Amino acid sequence: MNRSVIEADLCKGCRVCVNSCPNHCLSIGSAINRLGYQYAHSTPEKCNACGICFYVCPEPGAITVYKGDAPDV
Ligand code: SF4
Ligand code: SF4
Repeated sequence: MNRSVIEADLCKGCRVCVNSCPNHCLSIGSAINRLGYQYAHSTPEKCNACGICFYVCPEPGAITVYKGDAPDV
């Protein structure tokens, strides 16, 4: 299954990815990461692996997009 994976401790909760995903796969949760930010979560069901979230995220390494068979997380 296509999937975007958020590295929770690298996310600063800026919402750029949330607002950019055309399929509404991303949201900001209530949990706090090590940096003190509420971080993004991904729900993969509608992800088409377009990569938009990866390209817009300002935090290197915070998002990885897998096309096809993604590892379980
Ligand atoms: S790869 Fe595309 S569809 Fe999947 S979560 Fe990112 S922006 Fe959304
Ligand atoms: S764009 Fe990057 S830093 Fe901003 S909420 Fe999404 S994953 Fe986090």
